[in-house]
Amino acid sequence: MAQTYKIAVLAGDGIGPEITQQALRVLKLVEEKRDVHFDCQHAEFGASAYFSTGKSFPDATKKACDEADAILKGPIGLSHEESEKIPVEERPERGALLPMRRRLNTYANFRPISLPKGMAHFSPLKAEVVGEGIDILLVRELVGGLYFGGKERGETEEGLRYVKETLEYDEQQIRQILIIAFQEAMKRKKVLHNIHKSNVLISSVLWNEVLEEVAVDYPEVNVIHMLVDAAATHLCLNPCQFDVMVMENMFGDILSDQGGGILGSLGLMPSACMGPDKAYYEPSHGSAPDIAGKNLANPYSMIGSVALMLDMSFGMADEAKAVWQAMQSVFEAGFSTGDLSQAGSDITLLSTTEFGDKVMAALQDLL
Ligand code: NAD
Repeated sequence: MAQTYKIAVLAGDGIGPEITQQALRVLKLVEEKRDVHFDCQHAEFGASAYFSTGKSFPDATKKACDEADAILKGPIGLSHEESEKIPVEERPERGALLPMRRRLNTYANFRPISLPKGMAHFSPLKAEVVGEGIDILLVRELVGGLYFGGKERGETEEGLRYVKETLEYDEQQIRQILIIAFQEAMKRKKVLHNIHKSNVLISSVLWNEVLEEVAVDYPEVNVIHMLVDAAATHLCLNPCQFDVMVMENMFGDILSDQGGGILGSLGLMPSACMGPDKAYYEPSHGSAPDIAGKNLANPYSMIGSVALMLDMSFGMADEAKAVWQAMQSVFEAGFSTGDLSQAGSDITLLSTTEFGDKVMAALQDLL
């Protein structure tokens, strides 16, 4: 009997449904070609869920996630103006995304910043800087720090509005993400860039203390310390020096978007969010309200998230590799999507669905 995996599919907002549709075509093809069945349960999440149910993370979606072997999540959110129509507590990040991360304890966020040689022309960086391509694994702590700490808003005795947000980590939270990063470094080039801000933040001082303790178990890994502000510069000037990078939540949020920038688009950024029991997979980017509903979005990030899911949740590494190859072969054959189009006049632009069609055709032969 075919192996069955339950997948909760949360298509999300904006471009979410469009790119999820292409990702599901890929899953379907894997199912047809292999002895496996993907039981996809669709559930509402984000702003669309709020407008239809009054909750951005409805109970039915929680149940679908709890029952799933893995979760495939599209981006959520609205434009600034549209977001204002939702009560603060139910806005997609506050009401859905952060509660999901906390509920599933997906503390380890893997964000590959990867541009193979055949796609190197998409980078806005000079060819000599990109060299043979970019291949970085950014490991971001995902359930701690400033985004999850105490929040307070009030008025001072002088009548001034104030806010207080707290950056909190305990040593166990730091240790568990650092262990993941060291393990990944061991699987790759055994070089780990530790990104911090210990010249200013005592959270980084504790982070680095714990790192020294964890490093004892990984003597082969060469640890390179770098302040986060300097890392932002180095990512632009010499991205190829990085292999595995590890950092706390907010630093990772910001630097990984910069990672999308050096590749040429956030549309090339998939991610995996791993916890001890559950994992969910999502593009690193948002819902791109500026291009939503126009069949313009690049589904690479969403299809790439499926590839990560096949590999990391279902042990289907060969199939995942085929999915990457299929997507990359489309770009290497001289096609592009609108977000990457500046690469040259001999490039043919593809819509979201056309890119999906070409990936499916390539994958037919690779699986
Ligand atoms: P964004 O990532 O949605 O878009 C930034 C730029 O990148 C836009 O020009 C957009 O068109 C482009 N872009 C992003 N993904 C693309 C793709 N796949 N193909 C082509 N172009 C793409 O960031 P934003 O505009 O700042 O945020 C929009 C909404 O998304 C906000 O509500 C924000 O809160 C939310 N958001 C959600 C997540 C998430 O669900 N994990 C992450 C980030 C932002």
